Parts: sequence; structure tokens; C-alpha cells
Amino acid sequence: MSEEKSLNFIEEIVEEDLRTGKHGGRVLTRFPPEPNGYLHIGHAKSICLNFGLAQQYNGTTNLRFDDTNPVTEDTEYVESIKKDIQWLGFQWAEELYTSDYFETLYGYAVELIKKGLAYVDDSTAEEIAAAKGTPTEPGVPTPYRDRTIEENLTLFADMRAGKYKDGEKVLRAKIDLASPNMHMRDPLLYRIKHAHHHRTGNQWCIYPMYDFAHGQSDSIEKITHSICTLEFIPHRPLYDWCIDKLEIFPSKQYEFARLNMTYTVMSKRKLLQLVNDKFVESWDDPRMPTISGLRRRGYTPASIRNFCEKIGVQKRENMIDVSLLEFCIREDLNKTAWRRMAVLDPIKLVITNYPEGQVEDLVGENNPEVEGGEGSRTIPFSKELWIERDDFMEDAPKKFFRLGPGLSVRLKHAYIVTCHDFVKDENGKVTEVHCTYVPNSKSGEDTSGLKVKGTIHWISVPHAKEAEVRLYDRLFNDENPAAAEDFKASINPESLHIIERAYIEPDLANANPGKGYQFIRLGYFTLDTHSTPAHLVFNRTVTLKDSWGKEVKKNA
Ligand code: ATP
Ligand code: MG
Repeated sequence: MSEEKSLNFIEEIVEEDLRTGKHGGRVLTRFPPEPNGYLHIGHAKSICLNFGLAQQYNGTTNLRFDDTNPVTEDTEYVESIKKDIQWLGFQWAEELYTSDYFETLYGYAVELIKKGLAYVDDSTAEEIAAAKGTPTEPGVPTPYRDRTIEENLTLFADMRAGKYKDGEKVLRAKIDLASPNMHMRDPLLYRIKHAHHHRTGNQWCIYPMYDFAHGQSDSIEKITHSICTLEFIPHRPLYDWCIDKLEIFPSKQYEFARLNMTYTVMSKRKLLQLVNDKFVESWDDPRMPTISGLRRRGYTPASIRNFCEKIGVQKRENMIDVSLLEFCIREDLNKTAWRRMAVLDPIKLVITNYPEGQVEDLVGENNPEVEGGEGSRTIPFSKELWIERDDFMEDAPKKFFRLGPGLSVRLKHAYIVTCHDFVKDENGKVTEVHCTYVPNSKSGEDTSGLKVKGTIHWISVPHAKEAEVRLYDRLFNDENPAAAEDFKASINPESLHIIERAYIEPDLANANPGKGYQFIRLGYFTLDTHSTPAHLVFNRTVTLKDSWGKEVKKNA
């Protein structure tokens, strides 16, 4: 029998609704991004939850663009959001836009006015705020609260017709100025904004507020479970009030804890600042916590879905260690990445007893983690090789199992070599290491009987290809940058280290975009989206081990 996984609180709600036949056994969720930026890893949590629930219970999910603010929204964002959701492995049932409901929403507002439940207020934003009172003191009505229904209908129609300037009038719900919940103290429903909308153009100059668009859109689509983050708990009574007074489909709102992650910020507004102020190259800069940044960095959809599965769904705010995300991509790439060799900081190794001009085509499996190795590639070997500078030490300590005078190592896929000499330039910098090789020690057919402790990687000098390699570190030095007064104060100035010329094995010139490669001993890498055959660029996705100390416990 398979072990039963315990349900999270939202799954419990859905199962209860299915048991009681609440929506006739139907599950319809929605993912409602505002197209004002690129999606980030926090959105991935919401996507996995909404689409995941629907999959689990034979339901579907709508993608709804919550486009009620014409000033900040753009079709560029719409396109990127669609691409990211599909890349994560999910498909929506319907692609919808809140702006498609503007006429219906307007009708709903008129209905509230007719019921005496909404009024046009001429007060300024400051006057409204002042009259609202405080959580401990009730608010007072503005002079416009008792306008007649007829007057309100005329004024609201005039607002729509463009008779007033931005801010001159608003439409407010007439609820309860003494409510302990500030959101119920006659909240704004509509504001005037003479601005071009990316879909409706100049058709509208009044736009519904979030609270008068969201629940109604859910209802129009007959969403069964409307899942949002905890900060919307105080909005829930208003969500229910609107649906109740309009007597429309009773969608229900449920709240879960948003994803917060260490060493990053997670709000589109802040991420946009990083782009605009050029702290990063773009929204898809590999240091960004955006889906597009993670993709360019080399994260796989499976690793992100797995991360969302591991963090689960909670009712209380928490902070997830970014090393859990790194653990998830390592776990995935360890199984799927093809092994290759690259040298990032080269010095030359000369095998003095290897025949001049001789080349051997050695064979290396692509992926030793799976049976059959997923094929193999040839790795040319010759007399002169590039090795990593730090794989040689002039005065090697006892436990240095690499090269130094008199020390032996195995060259990966090749022979055992022993260092007998080295050359320095006038500044005392080592420029060449001289070794002899043991001809009968070739990997796979070694009859030398020799044992060496270390294996190092290398690239044949005449066959080496060049590439630019980008190594990334955390974008912020502060564990919780968003808590600081200025989140940009803790930006890590060394978050990007560019190696202009690394040497890579020839087969990497054929690297596939989107494929993960393990450069052995150096980490997991992927081709950058701006890489060209004439100028290859690789991004390091993640190091092989957690260098930050807090190793996440393997539960495998
Ligand atoms: P941001 O502050 O980053 O702009 P947002 O909540 O304003 O986030 P929306 O586009 O309105 O962004 O969000 C779409 C959906 O994604 C919402 O249902 C929202 O609750 C959810 N979401 C946004 N950020 C997170 C997060 N950090 N963790 C989980 N869900 C999130
Ligand atoms: Mg938002």
C-alpha cells in the first residue's frame, strides 16, 4: 500500500466541498496576475497551488489578467506571464481579462447605486482618509453620503462620460463607517483615470478598484475556490458583501502564506526598480528571482515545481531559505545534466614523454547517472593540456591530492601523470607544469597497478574552444533585504563574476539551449540566451555543493 500524504488545509477544504457536493463536484481555480511585471518564484508557488489543485481534483484553472490599472500594465508583461506559466508545465482552460468585464462591472455598480448601497463622493483622497477615522475611532460621513439614488446615477454616468478630471469624484460603497474593519468603511469602488489602457484603449476613464473587480470576476467565471495570500484576509468581508448584495455566484476566498525567501526581494515593484536602476541587466537577468531569470540561469521547470511541493502551503507567514531552491535544482541536474569539462582559470600542463603531434580521441559518457549514459562524446587528448591553476601548488601541503612537484593525479578519462618540473615567469607566476604520463594507466584499461587519490579535469590545448563564463552570487548580502528601509542598500556588488575566456571541450560548442551541463568539479552550467556560436556564453546555475554552510538535509 502506498503511504498516504497528509492534506494541506486547502486540499481539506476542497475535499469537504466535493463530499458535500457544494459546487456539483466542480473545481475551478484561477491564477490572477496583474500584468505589471514579470512573474517571480512567489508566483510559481501560487501557480503550482492553483493549477495543481485543479489537476488533483479533475478541475480546471483560468488565467485571468487582473488589468484594472492602465498606468502600470503592458502587453509585454502579458506575453511573458503566459510563456512562464506554460514553461512551468501548466495550461489554463481560459485566458481572460478583467478588462473584458468592465461593462458588466459598471452594471454591477449601477445596481448597487439603485439599491442605495453606493454613492458618488466629491471629497479629496485626504478628506476621505480623514473622515474614515482610525481603527479605534469610528469614521464620520462626508457631505455626499446621503445623495439621492437619482443624483448618484447621474453623477456616475457623468464620471463614465468623462465630465470630470482625475480625482474629482469617486464611487464608494455605502456600508458601515463604524466597522472595526477599515476596509468596510465605505470603500472606494471606482476612480477616475484618464489613461490609455493596453486593451480597452481610451474607451474608459473610470476604473474599478481591486476590491470591486476581483470577487466579481471570480463570480462571473464561477470560480469555486479563489485562493490568495494572507494580506487579503481583511478584504474577505468586502468580497463576500459585494457578492451577497449583487446576488451573484458565491465564489469563496481562501488565504495562504505568500512565499518569502532569504537573500532576495519578491515584489514586482522592487524588481522593476532593480531593472530601471540598472542593478541588473533585465527582468530575466540570471540573478533575478523571476521565472524568466531562473530559466536563463538554468533552473528547470521540474526543480521549481519540486521546490513548491517541498515548501507546502501554510496559514502563517514564514521565510524559506534560498538554499532549499538550490538544493532542488542540484537534485534535478545531478540526474539529468550531461558531464563536460571546462577550465576556468588555465595554466598549461605539458606531458614531456607524450609523442609530439599525437592525438587520442577519448570517450566520455554523457550522463553516468543513467544506464547507457545517454550516449557519449569524444574528448581529444594531446601533449599540451589546460588545467585549473589551483590544481597545482608549488609547495603543496600533505593532503593536497592534486599536482605539485613529485605529486601524481589522474587526468579525468585519461592517464595518470606525475609532475617533475614547472616554469615561472619574471613575476614568479607559474606558467607551465611539466609532467610525465604512465602509458598503461589509461582509464578503463589501466594495467599500471598505480593508485592515485586525486582526479583533475583538463582541456587539450590545440582542441580547446573559448567561452565566456558567468558565475553568480546572491544579489543581496542581507538575509531579508525587504525589511530594511532601503532594500537596495544591501545589494551585493560582487553578485556577478565574468570569466572572459575559459576553455571548454570542443563538444560544448554544440551545447543545446536550455540543457543543463555539469562542468565536472565546477558546478552546473547552461548556455546563456544571448550566446552565439561566435561568442559562447555559459551561466553557472549552481555550484556542486552548498558553499553557504547550511546544507539542506537530504531526505532521499
Ligand atoms: P507583487 O507584490 O510581487 O506585485 P502581487 O500579489 O501584487 O505581487 P499579482 O500579479 O497581483 O502580484 O499576483 C498574482 C497572484 O500571485 C496572486 O494571487 C498573488 O496572491 C500571488 N502571489 C504574488 N506574490 C506571491 C508570493 N510571494 N507567494 C505566493 N503567491 C504570490
Ligand atoms: Mg498586485
